[in-house]
Amino acid sequence: MSGFDTVIVADWASGKSSGPSPRKDAIWIGVASARKLEPPLYFRSRIAAEAWLQERLTGEVARGHRVLASFDFPFAYPRGFAAKVTGQDDPFALWAWLAARITDTQAGENNRFDVAADINRSFGGNGPFWGNPLKREIAGLARTKADYDLYGLPEKRTCEEGISGLFTCWQLAGAGAVGAQVLMGLPMLHRLRVHFGSAISTWPLETADTPIVLAEIWPSLIGPAVKEAEGRGEIRDAAQVRLLAKALASMPAGELAGMMDIPHTPEGAILGVGHEERLCVGATAFDAPVLADDCFALPAGVAWTPVDEALAMLRARLKPIASVRDCGVGDAAALILAQDVRAPRSNPPEPNTAVDGYGFAFASLGAPPHELPLLAGRAAAGVPFKGAVPAGCALRVLTGAALPSGVDTVVLEEDVNTDGARIAFNGPVKALGNTRKAGEDVAAGDTVLKAGRKITPADAALLSAVGLRDLPVFARLRVGVLSTGDELVEAGAQAKAGQIFDANRPMLLAQLAQWEFEAVDLGRAPDDRAVLRRMLDQGVQACDAILTSGGASAGDEDHMSALLADSGSLALWRIALKPGRPLALGLWHGTPIFGLPGNPVAALVCTLIFARPALNLLSGAGWSEPQGFMVPAAFEKRKKPGRREFLRARIREGRVETFKSEGSGRISGLSWAEGLVELPDGAAEVKQGTLVRYIPFTSF
Ligand code: AMP
Ligand code: MG
Repeated sequence: MSGFDTVIVADWASGKSSGPSPRKDAIWIGVASARKLEPPLYFRSRIAAEAWLQERLTGEVARGHRVLASFDFPFAYPRGFAAKVTGQDDPFALWAWLAARITDTQAGENNRFDVAADINRSFGGNGPFWGNPLKREIAGLARTKADYDLYGLPEKRTCEEGISGLFTCWQLAGAGAVGAQVLMGLPMLHRLRVHFGSAISTWPLETADTPIVLAEIWPSLIGPAVKEAEGRGEIRDAAQVRLLAKALASMPAGELAGMMDIPHTPEGAILGVGHEERLCVGATAFDAPVLADDCFALPAGVAWTPVDEALAMLRARLKPIASVRDCGVGDAAALILAQDVRAPRSNPPEPNTAVDGYGFAFASLGAPPHELPLLAGRAAAGVPFKGAVPAGCALRVLTGAALPSGVDTVVLEEDVNTDGARIAFNGPVKALGNTRKAGEDVAAGDTVLKAGRKITPADAALLSAVGLRDLPVFARLRVGVLSTGDELVEAGAQAKAGQIFDANRPMLLAQLAQWEFEAVDLGRAPDDRAVLRRMLDQGVQACDAILTSGGASAGDEDHMSALLADSGSLALWRIALKPGRPLALGLWHGTPIFGLPGNPVAALVCTLIFARPALNLLSGAGWSEPQGFMVPAAFEKRKKPGRREFLRARIREGRVETFKSEGSGRISGLSWAEGLVELPDGAAEVKQGTLVRYIPFTSF
């Protein structure tokens, strides 16, 4: 059985719907994959949470993913209960029975206590459920455990025995009680089961080999990790689902499969019991790659933000969000090192000879010309000479051979005469000549490469030479590209009047690929907020960051900025920059979105100037600054102060020339150019020969 691509952990609730601001004891859902930990989601009502679950699971299955969907309430009652209520000894019959009777509303008004009382009355009226917290009396449901009868049912399930702090599902009220949640949760599971049919199974009631697997979890298993997060100010329920999803998602597939390998039982089981320590390690193992909600906020009241200030803000607030994994040196080219790595062994590990020739002890030489007796045997690379070379004697040595004991200096074979028994040579010899010292290249323990390094083919040689096989690397950053606008059609398709071909998407995808990010084509969105919302929802599941183009301003059809504003994390960056209208930056479910202007020229300039260094930082490679060069101008231009300007440019005959038009719709000029001229924020007057800053496209 393969592992899970996505882990969902839901903290269910039984009461009335909660308010708009996230709070504890409400419904929270955590989502994680090995690649990505999503910020926990807060739901005001069960109906909203169930709708989200259905949509998310549908999307995951459509992409061929396997999902572990787990919930924090028992999936079954102690043995005998289902049979007594439904006539069938089958937990799923009880799910269906409850689904047919439990009612719920948007406001969260429900009849859970009345249904429990009905069941109690059918047993005799004193149990098995107890605990009525409502103002009204309910016949058959006692407020406390007085006059209580279990009617022969067990208090707990077999799997609950010996676990302290666990409440029984019979207790419906009181702090920490879970009973009411079971009554409100099982009908929801029943509906998921019906909806997804053969694509869903329930662990360990059934064989869990389907795309969706439902499982029961208990957040107290990672109590210490949650306490730590609470100490940092996180809402407990949010921390529970976030950390448990992270712990399960970070577990190797085989290990999780082992944890789930228990016999089927109609009473169900709690996933992870007996593995608490392992789960806590997973929950706290790596720092959650989550960006702060306000990471794109700009200072209030500033009309136009200078480019350098905007860049400084991005630099200060973004951080690596890609996950870390081990990778073989041979597969690591173009990946980014996540930690400094040290040399386990020196290079070279021992002193050796750099040439083919004859080795001896320098101190044993007399005055030239030299004649030394030749020992039998030789030292070759990988085949050391056994034994020592006596003072005054020489030994045949071949390039790369470790220097035998008694040899510190080598003379080149071409400088020597030999008759097989002696060697003779003249001229000056340098102590340690033609040899390499141990560790002269790299000493054991030296840092060979630093975190943030993009591994090159030469690095693979260096790492291998010091004996490194596996490296901690960041997973390649997945960057989505989405075009927006009703006017866009795919190049090559029939374009009607008023339509244009989508030029930004191919440009941005190619640029990302050139930067060696994983470019993800998210397609085109019409100027329709609902469709755009859906495409972003799906996009963030497959991407670590997204570049959109179009609709980034504040106009009627600027849906990108409007949506980001709705999500509460929009910052409309009005940057003092030409070309480039406002840049809409925001987080969509924790994923950074760079809302670029629609204009291809502005879209590319904003990508080069802002998205490039930001993506680099997110990827783990650190902030990047393009290398520019001062080059004499082959053009003339006067520029007013107040904004930075970038001109499409290229170098010919040692001078930088600019495109004939500055029109921002001129895509031909982008293609003509090989780089940009950057004119400073202040006023400037460029004459023929004035030195201007030229940045080749390849420097970004
Ligand atoms: P917007 O930012 O959506 O107002 O678009 C500004 C200009 O860029 C308009 O003329 C759009 O038609 C054009 N535009 C937007 N997206 C694209 C695209 N993907 N390819 C080419 N032109 C585009
Ligand atoms: Mg548009």
